[in-house]
Amino acid sequence: MKFGTKCIHAGLSPDPSTGAVMTPIYQTSTYAQAEPGKHQGFEYARTQNPTRSALERNLAQLENGEYAVAFSSGLAAMDAIVRLLEPGDEVIAVNDLYGGSYRQLVQVHGRYGIVSHFVDLADVAGVAKLINKKTRLIWIETPTNPMLKLVDIAAITTIARQKKVLTCVDNTFASPVLQNPLDMGADIVLHSATKYLGGHSDVVMGAVMTNSKDIADKLYFLQNAVGAVPGPQDCFLMLRGIKTLHLRVERACKNAKKIAKYLANHPKVGKVYYPGLKDHPQHELAKRQMRDFGAMVSFDFPDGTYEMAVKVLANTHYFTLAESLGGVESLIGHPASMTHASIPRKERLKVGLTDSLIRLSVGIEDVEDLINDLEQAFQNL
Ligand SMILES: *Cc1c(COP(=O)(O)O)cnc(C)c1O
Repeated sequence: MKFGTKCIHAGLSPDPSTGAVMTPIYQTSTYAQAEPGKHQGFEYARTQNPTRSALERNLAQLENGEYAVAFSSGLAAMDAIVRLLEPGDEVIAVNDLYGGSYRQLVQVHGRYGIVSHFVDLADVAGVAKLINKKTRLIWIETPTNPMLKLVDIAAITTIARQKKVLTCVDNTFASPVLQNPLDMGADIVLHSATKYLGGHSDVVMGAVMTNSKDIADKLYFLQNAVGAVPGPQDCFLMLRGIKTLHLRVERACKNAKKIAKYLANHPKVGKVYYPGLKDHPQHELAKRQMRDFGAMVSFDFPDGTYEMAVKVLANTHYFTLAESLGGVESLIGHPASMTHASIPRKERLKVGLTDSLIRLSVGIEDVEDLINDLEQAFQNL
């Protein structure tokens, strides 16, 4: 089955009890038993729900995995993965990690004895040197937020396998349309399904995919034992969103490419960060590793100031000023004051995250309207 067909059919079949073509929302917390312990595979809805099971079968195939486990958010999914470790174990994570993932590793798991190191995963030899007897997990994000840097997934997973260290790729930014980390040697893939998978900015959810039965069994145990499960209504919305995942991402990438080129040629705009531009330092890696370049674009102004960024943010109409990404609608954001405000300014500046950097999540509107929207917002700069 090819990808677009998977989005619509993988793991799904008409409901056996009624023939309903669309997976029903099993809005129930419990299931009737004929005799104690005699049931149809469903006992209690934290443990099993048919809508969730259908979604999990579908999600697994999107990442070419045997197993998928759904959680109530991307960060709940991450929490389950890090709980595979023991106190004293160490994590090596990419240094410009999603802010919430950084916060969880340091402020939550740090308290329970998990030690995290944040490094530039582009330095593959450096990573090899950092691995010691306690290293259990390498946490990859690619492309990163908001600087759109890439990590060579195959290079890192090759080293990790030699040293028997698990690898997890947070594939939220690329989506399974553009890259499938399990095929590149990763043990685990994580998605904030809130973003491209759901695609309509109406559900918060997380998903973990793997080919390891051992890892999947441990995650199903944690899903039930800890209980951060998504409800059946959200699972239905996620299945509905995924049906157009391939079309949405394809269109959003097309729009983003045009917008990145427009920005790169604009006299008022300075640096443009987009892996699809030839001058992106990892353009060759992006061509090799991804099927397209994604729909996230960041840009800056020469001698930019906070005030300049605010002026632009206040004057777009179709680009809504908001956190998050990956929906059908275009969003505009200011990382320094929004997603990355908790990182000290000095640290932000080191990676190029200036006070005037603007991040776009390009949606699937008509690109001419989006470009006109940016153009009029630049007018009074
Ligand atoms: C949003 C996001 C998360 C967290 O997911 P939630 O669904 O918000 O909990 C993790 N990683 C990345 C890259 C994200 O963009």
